[in-house]
Amino acid sequence: MSAINLTTKKIGNDEIAILTFDLPNEKVNKLSTPVMTELKAHIEKLQTSNYKMVVFKSAKPKIFIAGADIEEIQKLKTPQEVQVAVSSGQTIFNQIEDLPMPTLALVHGACAGGGCELILACDYRIATDDSSTRIGLPETKLGILPGFGGCIRLPRTVGLQASLDVILAGKLLNPKKALKIGLVDYVVHVNLLDGFAETQIQKILAGGAKKRRKTFQPRGVVNKLLEGPLKGVVFKKAREGVLKATRGHYPAPLAALDVVRKTYGMSDRTRALQIELEHFAECAVTDISKNLIHVFYLTEMVKKQTGVSSDVKGKAVKQLGVLGAGTMGGGIAYVAADKGIGVRVKDISYEANAKALKHARDLWAKLVKKKVIDNYQFTQKMALVSTGLDFAGFKNLDVTVEAIVEDMGIKQKVIGQTAAEMREDAIIVTNTSSLSVNEMAKGHPRPEYFAGMHFFSPVHKMPLVEVIRGEKSSDETIATVFELAKKMGKMPVVVKDGPGFLVNRLLLPYMAEAAFLLAEGMSVEKVDKAYVNQFGMPMGPFELMDSVGLDVCVKVLNIFRKAFPDRVEVPALMEKLEKNKARLGQKTNLGFYKYEGGRKTEVDQSIYAELGISAPTNPYSDQECLERGVFAMINESALALDQDKIVDTPHEVDLAMIMGTGFPPFRGGLMKYADTIGADYVRTQLTKYATERKANRLKPSSKLVERADKKAR
Ligand code: NAD
Repeated sequence: MSAINLTTKKIGNDEIAILTFDLPNEKVNKLSTPVMTELKAHIEKLQTSNYKMVVFKSAKPKIFIAGADIEEIQKLKTPQEVQVAVSSGQTIFNQIEDLPMPTLALVHGACAGGGCELILACDYRIATDDSSTRIGLPETKLGILPGFGGCIRLPRTVGLQASLDVILAGKLLNPKKALKIGLVDYVVHVNLLDGFAETQIQKILAGGAKKRRKTFQPRGVVNKLLEGPLKGVVFKKAREGVLKATRGHYPAPLAALDVVRKTYGMSDRTRALQIELEHFAECAVTDISKNLIHVFYLTEMVKKQTGVSSDVKGKAVKQLGVLGAGTMGGGIAYVAADKGIGVRVKDISYEANAKALKHARDLWAKLVKKKVIDNYQFTQKMALVSTGLDFAGFKNLDVTVEAIVEDMGIKQKVIGQTAAEMREDAIIVTNTSSLSVNEMAKGHPRPEYFAGMHFFSPVHKMPLVEVIRGEKSSDETIATVFELAKKMGKMPVVVKDGPGFLVNRLLLPYMAEAAFLLAEGMSVEKVDKAYVNQFGMPMGPFELMDSVGLDVCVKVLNIFRKAFPDRVEVPALMEKLEKNKARLGQKTNLGFYKYEGGRKTEVDQSIYAELGISAPTNPYSDQECLERGVFAMINESALALDQDKIVDTPHEVDLAMIMGTGFPPFRGGLMKYADTIGADYVRTQLTKYATERKANRLKPSSKLVERADKKAR
């Protein structure tokens, strides 16, 4: 079965060829080796044909071409192998560019990576204004760079600044933006695509069927200077931007920048493509690229999963209830309504309800200001949220998320009341971060309809949702909640009930370790900087504790100490800190850091005196600071995974840590990182720190030892 169908069409007296991508038995079109071979055969036939035009389109409902086949790239081991594979793609796209007749791409749906590079090799481009249509070059997000000529053709088409914006950030543009920068020529409604295309084809044919080498022409003096004599400034600024955003951990955007710098304005296409190829090949074989691709696969895996091993399907959620309109409830209501779900918020406080509505309104207003949504969409979204102090309307809800105070007794009572107000087959989930879901289920008359749905704060930014499967939760409940999380644009991971579920269980020992380092003479700045600049965490452990709230950290640590008395220690220093109710972190504008208007300003140097410790002497190396914190997480993850079976596979640990804590994606996730450095090394170092620092908590866990022994065998 072929992946590309060639059909012809008579327009007036002229015949045109239409190449339609439709990969058999696949949801998406991708440019795998067999597809590229087929494409080449078609193009070579067209080279000597009499067709007056060639049109490229897709038969898939919401995909044009998703890109090259990443699996193939990942298997390539040496730069030489990569060069051979990728150069054949470059050749085919050159052949498309060199076809004697004009070419037109009709883009409906995702047009990413190799797909975008294909349309850049065409003369004309029309896209639909559908929400599924996204066009761009996301390669740098996978640790590689556009390799089929994208680094050469995009700058030539849309100019230096717009192209760097797309390539360096790995952006996919919506049709409006693609039109604005000149990546496409027209944007039309999907129903009009074929008709509009035919009119354009007629015009091109009437004009003599001319090829068009569209090259970007800057407007205005400043832009002319920046595209010409002052382009060095653009490259310098772009480099600074990349280094700031990546802290030097991601080489691919820098390599792509190098390619554009070396090739922009170069008339020798062969030489320019060779430069792109060499840089591509170097990036493609790095561990960083392999790790980023690993993360990409993990996210793809979730798209296919249902959250259960049986073939039970989840029910569609159209109406959602939210109990509690506080920090979490407000965020959950916003995210759900943003995705088109009707939301009923119930709090006991009128003010809290008003605050939640304002929170949602402010976030959407920002989107209007940025022109992401228009006023009509703003009104539509606002209309999806209603608030109240009673249970009015709860009979219509499919699922209710409970996000009230963290108190087992109150939660159980409220869950029982809510169940009585909802349909018998409706589901209730709790957003608790530290209480037992199984215990809470006792408050529900039909516990099979109860589970956990643990969002992370701030809800509109954090992608992870832990779906907590209680002992009595039914498959249908879990599948429904899993699907709901995906519908809300989140990344769900199913976890078993247990203290801290997965992410908090691993994070707490890490945060506590930072407090121990502080007590032993390390400074807040030195530890946080090591984690951010060297390891690549989005924030250091002290800043993280400030954002979670020191009171919450101590409360949860105490729950852990009760659950795992053999290995959890609550740093005395944190207990002391928590007593000062004016220093609870970001929420009180003072913690380890000072805050102004919610923004961190500097470390509060009075913290050492307040804790009764002398000024920091920084006795340990960055390596020790990093290893003690990260290895504490690895140590705990071995127990969570191998002993308590909180999740089924290391992949879920990787995904949860990246999506829930910002664990650096270029390291592939916590378990991937542990594999890279080796369980044996982790065991050796933990033993060393446990002995030297007299820290029982750092002793390698039984399951880590088993892992290390297994690897050593
Ligand atoms: P919050 O104090 O900001 O909000 C709680 C809201 O619940 C308040 O508006 C309160 O008026 C309301 N409320 C209390 N009793 C109620 C009742 N009987 N019916 C309806 N509303 C009631 O708290 P939060 O930070 O949003 O946390 C809510 C839940 O989410 C807790 O279980 C917490 O552990 C969990 N959680 C919090 C975070 C976080 O970072 N804040 C993260 C994940 C999970």
